[in-house]
Amino acid sequence: MSISVQYSQADAETVRQRIAVLRERNVAAKLIASQLGMNLEDVRAHLKEMRAQKAQERERAKAAIKLRPCLRCRREFRPEHKGNFMCSGCKSTTAGLA
Ligand SMILES: [Zn+2]
Repeated sequence: MSISVQYSQADAETVRQRIAVLRERNVAAKLIASQLGMNLEDVRAHLKEMRAQKAQERERAKAAIKLRPCLRCRREFRPEHKGNFMCSGCKSTTAGLA
C-alpha cells in the first residue's frame, strides 16, 4: 500500500532532486515530507535509494581509477588520482625533459 506507485519515473527524479536540495540544507526527513506534501515513508524510501546510488557512484569512480594504460609507454599502472595519465616512470622522464 504505497501512493508512490502513481509517480512516473520522471516524477520520481524531480522528487529526488527536490529532496536532495532540502537534504543538503540538513532538513530532517519529517520536514522534507511536510514541505513536499509527501508521506514520511516515501521520503525515507527515496533517501535510502539516493544513498545507495551515491555509494554505487563512489564505487564506480574508485574502480575507474584502478588501472589504466600509460599514455606514453602503454604499460598499465595505478594512478594516484583521476587526472594522472602517465606512469611514474614516464612522468619523471618528461619532467626531466621539461
Ligand atoms: Zn609510462
